[in-house]
Amino acid sequence: MHLLLASFSHETNTFSSDKTRLPEFFGFRDVPVTGEEAVRSRRGTGSSIGGHIDYLESENISFDLAVAANAWPSGVVAKEAYEQIVGLITDALAARHYDGVLLELHGAMVAEEFEDGEGELLRRLREINSTIPIGVTLDMHANNYAALVDKVTVLTGYHTYPHVDMNEAGQRCAGLLIRTLRGEIKPTIAFGTRPMLPHIMRQGTHENPNRSLQAACIDLEKEQCLAASLFTGFPHADIEYAGLSVVVVTDGDQGLADSICDRLLTQAWEERAGFNYQPSPLESSITKAKQSTDFPVAILDHCDNVGSGGPMDTTVVLAEMIRQGLTDAVFFAIRDPQAVEAAAKAGVGATVTLTIGGHAQFVATGEDNPPLTISGRVRTLHDGQIKLHGPMKTGMIIPIGKTAVIDVAGILVVLISERTEPADISYFSSLGIDVRSKKYIAIKSRVHWRAGLGDIVAKAIESDGIGITTSDYSKLKFKKVRRPIYPLDAIDN
Ligand SMILES: [Zn+2]
Repeated sequence: MHLLLASFSHETNTFSSDKTRLPEFFGFRDVPVTGEEAVRSRRGTGSSIGGHIDYLESENISFDLAVAANAWPSGVVAKEAYEQIVGLITDALAARHYDGVLLELHGAMVAEEFEDGEGELLRRLREINSTIPIGVTLDMHANNYAALVDKVTVLTGYHTYPHVDMNEAGQRCAGLLIRTLRGEIKPTIAFGTRPMLPHIMRQGTHENPNRSLQAACIDLEKEQCLAASLFTGFPHADIEYAGLSVVVVTDGDQGLADSICDRLLTQAWEERAGFNYQPSPLESSITKAKQSTDFPVAILDHCDNVGSGGPMDTTVVLAEMIRQGLTDAVFFAIRDPQAVEAAAKAGVGATVTLTIGGHAQFVATGEDNPPLTISGRVRTLHDGQIKLHGPMKTGMIIPIGKTAVIDVAGILVVLISERTEPADISYFSSLGIDVRSKKYIAIKSRVHWRAGLGDIVAKAIESDGIGITTSDYSKLKFKKVRRPIYPLDAIDN
């Protein structure tokens, strides 16, 4: 038995003006990560392709890994990048005989020419081989289309947000595909959607409604079906089928798959109001943080969240922290390569005045993105290779480019050259910052921060800034998503 593996993962924020190009999929280098290098970079890591690899190696099953391509969420995938990465996968399938295919995909990828990026990939794979069993693992934020689900043999999704079970979801998929190839099971799939766009801010599995929805999926997998996946969807995508969906795989029982799928969709629909988010003014959020007596307080600058496609260069939350005089704080982070260069040129210990952030244009929301001038001492310079040790993306090395830490009147402002979502304590410890001792930990994150920092934070305060990952849907002009859809439209039953 010999399998083909590939990873091509992107969550596309269609409100972003920045196209996603090839180097962003490969750690900001121009050459794709393929073959043995790809296997080495993903084996044993907290990723679903890592789960595929780990399962196959534990069973002594051989495989080729065509490509490992993962970019941070951002705007639509540029045509050249899409075609080159898809070409690596389709060429590999056409080149020799394989018994099965395992894919790590996101499910919310929009390419310049294809609204359903994953569906188009599957269409091309099926053109080459219409019968080969294909297993796919998707992110919980997938916006699923029938064009994808109809072409796969087995499909699994995560049960946690923050996503700390990506490897397990990958192993579950690999296990089902191998059992299929051995003739032990005959998978059949049910797929359905409901017209709802759950807010990302309320999708975390640390609270309801998603905690109980995912618990229901886990229980079903123990007793009634091979895989039950509820996808909360990614709402910052103005595409027809953005939103919540369910995929259920049973062993040859279509009726059972359909009824479980319908039950999960009904449960989600009945709890739809629990996914709503109400923004509150920034000034009062920072005042609330200042008045807290429990520390550390996490200040969430969630409207510029990289994990949803933010450019990580808005400064309004940091500016308000400085204005209200918060000290003993860290702010992670503003992406500004030029400011980092200037700090590096000045050197550790030097006092610098820098104008940071404010480069991204927010055409979709019409907001201004003001830069901020800061003065402070250069505390740390770093090469920006961060190895993660926490429960999410465990073991992966994340490049954030040249990095500088500037002490601005008691706020350690981290300036980075490439975007990342700070969901791991290593982002701080690598820079010599003892995050546990800080009163305020300001982070550009929504939910994933809970993976690595949740245990040490006493209180989290959601602080509405600006940007294309806004949780205020009224700032976004949806034109393509199917209507009516909740909560953009009132739907009573
Ligand atoms: Zn996700």
